[in-house]
Amino acid sequence: MAEIIDGKALAAQVRSGVRERALCFEQNNGRKVGLAVVRVGDDPASDIYVRNKIKACEECDIRSVAVVLNGDATQTDVIAVVEKLNADNDIDGILVQLPLPKHIDERAVLAAISPKKDADGFHAVNAGKLFLGEDGGVVACTPRGIMELIKSTGVDICGKHAVVIGRSNIVGKPIAALLLAADATVTVCHSKTENLAQITRTADILVAAVGKKHLVTADMVKRGAVVIDVGMNRDDSGLHGDVDFDNVKEVASYITPVPGGVGPMTVAMLLMNTVDGACGE
Ligand code: NAP
Repeated sequence: MAEIIDGKALAAQVRSGVRERALCFEQNNGRKVGLAVVRVGDDPASDIYVRNKIKACEECDIRSVAVVLNGDATQTDVIAVVEKLNADNDIDGILVQLPLPKHIDERAVLAAISPKKDADGFHAVNAGKLFLGEDGGVVACTPRGIMELIKSTGVDICGKHAVVIGRSNIVGKPIAALLLAADATVTVCHSKTENLAQITRTADILVAAVGKKHLVTADMVKRGAVVIDVGMNRDDSGLHGDVDFDNVKEVASYITPVPGGVGPMTVAMLLMNTVDGACGE
């Protein structure tokens, strides 16, 4: 039976380190580290995510500024807010909560964020640095958190076969790049992949980032694999991962639960990216 990777406990450790660095920054600079969270419209899920991030900032001595625009704000309005925050010396990180209303081009808004203040790590400059193996870029929060979760198991990534299901810009592609940089042999699967189960059964490390409840079943997992479940699928019975946890835990060596796995680490890494930005790291 698999050992459960406790994302909540690991995130608490990360947050405590972030808090120490944020306090040290404040002592040295006479101001708190600052994160601006921009939200457009009144999507209830976004509201919950933003409130969680603001609460997490408070706990880590990071000053958070929420900028909320009406759902009918134009792309120009949103970019003007971002540019103002870029120029604000008290703000070290900027996060634009996605999704934005349909009439706004998300890419244009993300491109307007200064790459140094890009707390989410979605800017093309930061994504490019990751893919080129250049230091100094901001790594997207969820993939950065996943790497910490894998490292916490003590399993050596080098030379292992890592299979990532999902090729999104925010999870699938960057986690594949990070695993490759850590010397794993990486296979990326997606909705057009043929014989998915045949591929996943060869994975020493399996990352599921799909958004389909319990897509990964026990027969798709190699005995002893490390399984990271990124999925967040909400239905009437609660929050579910992409992995059939109850059955897969009988086969895997380590597994993340949902909730309590990748989610808390994503928020912790947002705080880490913000403090890194403030400290110029
Ligand atoms: P996304 O942009 O919708 O991407 C999903 C990916 O899964 C796509 O690449 C898609 O393939 C692939 N896919 C869909 N159906 C598939 C199937 N049957 N077999 C194999 N691949 C399939 O989603 P995302 O933003 O990466 O997020 C993925 C999940 O992670 C969601 O549940 C999201 O809520 C969750 N998430 C969690 C956190 C966290 O902090 N815990 C953070 C981010 C995301 P195509 O490219 O071919 O369409």
